[in-house]
Amino acid sequence: MKILFCSSEAAPLIKTGGLADVAGSLPATLRELGKDCRLAIPAYPEAVERSRSLETVARLELPGSREAVQILQGLSGPHEVPVYLMDAPHYFQRPGNPYLSPLGISWPDNADRYALFCRAIVQLAMGRCGLDWRPDLVHTNDWQTGLVAPLMRDLPARPACVFTIHNLAYQGLFDRSTFNRLQLPRRLWGMDGLEFHGQLSFIKGGIAFADRVTTVSPTYAEEIKGPALGYGLEGLLRHRGDHFLGILNGIDYQVWDPANDPCIVQPYSADRFADKLPNKRALQREFELPEETSSMLFGYIGRLVDQKGVDLILQVIPGILDAGGQIVTLGSGDAELERALRKLNTSYHSRIGVSIGYDEGLSHRIEAGCDAFLMPSRFEPCGLNQMYSLRYGSVPIVRRTGGLADSVCDVGAESLSDGSATGFVFERADGEGLWHAIERALDFYHLPGGEWARLASTGMRQDFSWESSAAHYLEVYESALQAPLETP
Ligand code: ADP
Repeated sequence: MKILFCSSEAAPLIKTGGLADVAGSLPATLRELGKDCRLAIPAYPEAVERSRSLETVARLELPGSREAVQILQGLSGPHEVPVYLMDAPHYFQRPGNPYLSPLGISWPDNADRYALFCRAIVQLAMGRCGLDWRPDLVHTNDWQTGLVAPLMRDLPARPACVFTIHNLAYQGLFDRSTFNRLQLPRRLWGMDGLEFHGQLSFIKGGIAFADRVTTVSPTYAEEIKGPALGYGLEGLLRHRGDHFLGILNGIDYQVWDPANDPCIVQPYSADRFADKLPNKRALQREFELPEETSSMLFGYIGRLVDQKGVDLILQVIPGILDAGGQIVTLGSGDAELERALRKLNTSYHSRIGVSIGYDEGLSHRIEAGCDAFLMPSRFEPCGLNQMYSLRYGSVPIVRRTGGLADSVCDVGAESLSDGSATGFVFERADGEGLWHAIERALDFYHLPGGEWARLASTGMRQDFSWESSAAHYLEVYESALQAPLETP
């Protein structure tokens, strides 16, 4: 089976969030399973710099681009996944992140940029680029690739198309005039097309037109079929019936392995849990916190946005400090949240470490160094850090939502006795809800008899490797190939 995996970001070429991790590791796993999976992403400067063996393999004239789009082919990452970089310099050779200018504002021409990306994918998928490779199936991801399925839908002998929702909160909504400017086929305007309450919705294209639709955890799949998290698309998602399902993401154990992680000071494993301690001390030193072994050290890594419940963390910090704990955070995002964290850092310099920014190496050192990891997300399609935390024996404290609910088993009498407990789970998305979970964790941490180490090592032994999730994707691919949507 030949698969073209299309994404607006892919680790290690370019990353802003979980989508990049998935695009970096799922194609690699599919290749290990014997499938010819290749990546397609825009040719951002970092992606060009980090790809190996690049050569130009095609030139395309496409609507919406004043210059020819070149396709560069190369290899990506430690798994050497073949990658096609769609090179349109006036759209993708920019500083900042793929979606935002250095000032943190969405690029005003994002619709044009990703429409062009989608058009280039369609050409490649249809075998119109003069390459000797053509996919049987195109796997598209999130709104930036949402136009691929509708643009391909009526084409004869098209490949099958799967669309995965990594976060329904980002939909690629633009006004009607954008639809006209992009010169999209007129038949795509309307209720049964890309129109969403008078606007152009990229994500609706993927949801309505792909042969199969998936999202990144079973619980999130149920949640977005309801009004609270469905953003008005819940009806359409329900309408897709059993052509829409949730598959939990895996994690890349080659990149996230405490027994073999070049970013951390001391390797360790579930059987050598005591070796985690030097990593805690190193992290405390790095953030200039007292090197107290017995102080419980909490960590947070992630975007500083409302979704992640960072404001709830701000509410519980005084309680954590009163209880003798320490906390380190890494992330950037909302200016207000950045300011609030900086302020707390100044006030409680000796107990809190705040790093504003993006730092891969530090994220590994935090996972290895902290005792517990906070993820009080209001919603979380899958979430990866709780799985990294489990792997690194940093007990996750999470809200019961989306992929967090599907990957962390709450500490309770029953789960402790049957050995399934891996973390602390709470329901209410408020400071009090989070605080109760933290109190339970603090009590557990200070229990004698190695209870905490047992809990943490149970988490370390969980299997979140990509193999089983990739097998699920293969079932979805097979079903899309065997029974694609009929052309209307
Ligand atoms: P989301 O995709 O919603 O941002 P996920 O938990 O699915 O959240 O994935 C986030 C990924 O990005 C994780 O791999 C996480 O470690 C990483 N990450 C987020 N913020 C930072 C940061 N400031 N520095 C390093 N890595 C980060």
